Amino acid sequence: MAQGRLLRTMTRRSTGRVVCGDRVTVRESFPGEAVVERILPRRNVLERTNYRGQAKPLAANLDLLFVVIAPAPIPDLHLLDAYLVLASHLAVKPVIVLNKVDTLTDTHPLHADLALYRELGYGMISVSAKQAVGLDAVGETLDGGTAILLGQSGVGKSSLVNRLIPDIDARTQALSATSGQGRHTTTETTLYHVPPTGALIDSPGIRILRLGHLPASEIQRGFPEVAEHAQGCDYRDCRHDREPACAVRAALESGQIAASRLVSFHRLLAGSAQAPGG
Ligand code: GDP
Ligand code: ZN
Repeated sequence: MAQGRLLRTMTRRSTGRVVCGDRVTVRESFPGEAVVERILPRRNVLERTNYRGQAKPLAANLDLLFVVIAPAPIPDLHLLDAYLVLASHLAVKPVIVLNKVDTLTDTHPLHADLALYRELGYGMISVSAKQAVGLDAVGETLDGGTAILLGQSGVGKSSLVNRLIPDIDARTQALSATSGQGRHTTTETTLYHVPPTGALIDSPGIRILRLGHLPASEIQRGFPEVAEHAQGCDYRDCRHDREPACAVRAALESGQIAASRLVSFHRLLAGSAQAPGG
């Protein structure tokens, strides 16, 4: 019996759906071939919600959630907040990966946004997939763990994967050539080993991220500054909207909580977090 990490999703009637990052036990069936016997208990599962609202497991046993942002396309900070809530929900450490630093000007509004998230305590790595800057820092942050790459379409997720795992460049191009389709049409979730010991899950299949199903308390946990001040609210289930003696609104007024974050929080509470992935 052996254990290993699965590189691709597959379904077997006997074991259920095996997803990227699953730890499984296998039995050798033929030399060089093995059958999955059992999926070991998952520490966490990232689910994808399809257009019919059905949730399907997509990746498991994540250690880190890399949220990639870039100066362009215009950063969707609500989507960033939604990913941070997801990370908190999965008990996975979020790291903001700022890509395309080669295009970041001194006066770009992103600087102020990033300062806010830095102040909130989120880790950040600056990289350029194009100029191969900061890639070592990504490897070091992985530190043997498994990360999933999320972020708006166009921020450079595929470029980063191609940089971090150079051998796949040729493969993705070959794939595109045979199918006659761009690599963005693939919805396959793939786990790549990142030397020396880390792993990166690329999941172009994440098109919709619905967080509306999360209880309000879970959403609040993903906004540490809101959670902290909420302890001072008069109502236990305060939604920090129009309730009297709301400590969160007081913190907003005194500038301790950013307005953009509270707007994001209320949008998530209203179940509007339908994030176009990429
Ligand atoms: P994805 O949709 O997140 O997978 O983004 P892609 O990897 O397809 O990249 C989108 C566009 O951004 C492509 O035209 C890339 O060449 C470009 N791009 C990616 N990384 C960088 C970078 O570090 N700097 C610059 N200037 N462009 C980049
Ligand atoms: Zn309140």
